[in-house]
Amino acid sequence: MAQNSALVMRLLASSVVVANRAGKIIRDVMSRGDLGIVEKGKNDLQTEADRSAQRCIIASLSQQFPDIAIIGEEGTQNPEVPSDWIVTDSDHSILSMQCPNDYKKIETKDVVVWVDPLDGTSEYTQGFLDHVTVLIGLSIKGKALGGVIHQPYYNYKVEPESTGRTIWGLVGLGVGGFLPQQPPQGKTIVTVTRSHSDALVQAALEALHPDETIRVGGAGNKVLLLMEGRAHTYVFASKGCKKWDTCAPEAVLTAMGGKLTDIHGSSYNYEKTVEHPNSRGVLATAKGVDHESILKKIPESVKNKFP
Ligand code: AMP
Ligand code: MG
Ligand code: MG
Repeated sequence: MAQNSALVMRLLASSVVVANRAGKIIRDVMSRGDLGIVEKGKNDLQTEADRSAQRCIIASLSQQFPDIAIIGEEGTQNPEVPSDWIVTDSDHSILSMQCPNDYKKIETKDVVVWVDPLDGTSEYTQGFLDHVTVLIGLSIKGKALGGVIHQPYYNYKVEPESTGRTIWGLVGLGVGGFLPQQPPQGKTIVTVTRSHSDALVQAALEALHPDETIRVGGAGNKVLLLMEGRAHTYVFASKGCKKWDTCAPEAVLTAMGGKLTDIHGSSYNYEKTVEHPNSRGVLATAKGVDHESILKKIPESVKNKFP
């Protein structure tokens, strides 16, 4: 089992199981009905599900990988968690895969784990449950290269007992947990925020002249629309997204041949010392979509607001 000892493969395999456990916590908080909402800032909520899911993820990953840097949206919290929140298992199908050569020598110090325990909190509190994702991103030497996106409420309206769906990706290895698809040619479908819009967000959207606009919550959820061929591009001319929102989605999207950058076309750095906001906005395109041509459509007057 020599290939299984590679740190990156073990981290990815553990993150899949950990994300599933966090998803169960998110469903349990909702079923109990007391969301414990706290306002972190303007239009920025936190619930008991955000807090507990992050405690589960950080406690589990730090038990398995004691020296790894983990940065979670909800900051420093009580590290003591109920014993049944500690996950020690990993995804066996990922562990059985061959580690790409580029990652064989990656050590703990090269990795930062970016955790958004519940992406789409506004939508969670408003009952748009299928917009919610759990995001665990692996940055390796500053690049978003590995990621897990778990949907705790995938297909829940059809299958109320569903335990969701978990998607993973590693650049150089591939993706799993879903059927990667490209969007149709000959039109432009754009996905955008439904709860954090402003004049610049709207100006960038309109400049793309979409044939159709899909307004949904969550960075993870919107990138999933690109990966399943339901939208061509995701644009967000705002400083509102953070590194934990984009690390996992960027990695999975890149692993299937799409692209995520700032609105100038540059990649974000995900080292542990970087600022958390994605202060130059977000532009993501599906596989088969020309990222450069979409970038060119965003007016300089909008780009100049995000130096
Ligand atoms: P949205 O597309 O609105 O769901 O946003 C994607 C992610 O970025 C979510 O985690 C939001 O909470 C976060 N986000 C976007 N804009 C803001 C903002 N103005 N303030 C706080 N968080 C934001
Ligand atoms: Mg988020
Ligand atoms: Mg969140």
